[in-house]
Amino acid sequence: MLFSEIPGHEDTKRRLREMADGNKLPHALMLEGQEGIGKFALIRAFAQYINCTGRMPGDTDSCGNCPSCHHYASMTHIDTLWIYPVVKLEKMKTPPTSDDFHDEWMDYLDGRIYMDMSQWTDIFDKKNAVPTIYVTESDSLIRKLSFASHTSRYKIVLWWLPERMNVETANKLLKIIEEPYQDTIFLMTANNPAQILPTVYSRVQRIKVTPYPETEVAQILTSRYALPIQDAEEIARLSHGSMSSAIGTISVNKRKARMFEMFKQLMRLAYQRNVIELRQWAADLAATGREQQLEFYSYAVRLIRENFVKNFAIDSLVYMDQEEWKFGNNFSRFICERNVEQLAGVFNSAITDIAANGNGKIINLDVALKVIVLLIPPKS
Ligand SMILES: [Zn+2]
Repeated sequence: MLFSEIPGHEDTKRRLREMADGNKLPHALMLEGQEGIGKFALIRAFAQYINCTGRMPGDTDSCGNCPSCHHYASMTHIDTLWIYPVVKLEKMKTPPTSDDFHDEWMDYLDGRIYMDMSQWTDIFDKKNAVPTIYVTESDSLIRKLSFASHTSRYKIVLWWLPERMNVETANKLLKIIEEPYQDTIFLMTANNPAQILPTVYSRVQRIKVTPYPETEVAQILTSRYALPIQDAEEIARLSHGSMSSAIGTISVNKRKARMFEMFKQLMRLAYQRNVIELRQWAADLAATGREQQLEFYSYAVRLIRENFVKNFAIDSLVYMDQEEWKFGNNFSRFICERNVEQLAGVFNSAITDIAANGNGKIINLDVALKVIVLLIPPKS
């Protein structure tokens, strides 16, 4: 990771460079600030900068070409250790360490600037999982640090979310932080530093990283995610300066757009009584998986109700976005007192059946056939 790959944060980058250039590297440094603003990318870039051997005086970034930089680029730098919270799965006899999820971690970090705990938690595929840094991690780390560094002057520990340590882990690691091994640097990032044991917290040097200004979020969204400026500004307003939150909104919007398409398709084909294509529609929806089908039917219930309310021409009661509203201008007259509850009922029972692991293709086609019967052509 190069500093130049991370948008913004010029002040933090400058402070980090000054530490390395002025030989004032702390034993333990923590970047603190809210989630999703690039703190972990900054310490990755800092680690690479510290160990880069191709930098010339005055350079403001790693060279990108020396052997050390190549190892950082492929995330195979032998003197860089990673600590991050993980989840104990049923099959595991003892609490896991970061190493147990090394491949998943490498995949997760690949090309990533902004960390997102909920996405990381998803990889464990376990309900109510709370990724934790277990006490086994400290033993593993102590063992690894006892070997001399191999290729670089500094052994660097990149540590994501020290607040995820339990007290037992923290007490064991405290000793290492208090009496560090020579040429070993701990670089940490915390979203919730108040949750870190004060004995640990007080022993690390800290830099606060501020959230991105709204205008910068919008600018990153247009330049890196090719969003139209209007959409980018709207998402930026809701992001509270967090890029991971903004990126999350993009994917939610994409999902919603897909559900809206599926809804329109269902209504159009049902109106045309096109059973052949409805069969395909049912299969396509089933292929999106259980969670998405549940989400789709909740969405469909909402749209049916909104279109019913739209008929009363009290706009302040209608909660639809611009595209849904435009569609509703033609569609809402198909929804009336005689079918609104029945349609909602069809979608709601689909939710129950799919939640109970019913066959999506059959349930969806059944829904489609019922919609054919229930869609009442408006009186002309
Ligand atoms: Zn280099």
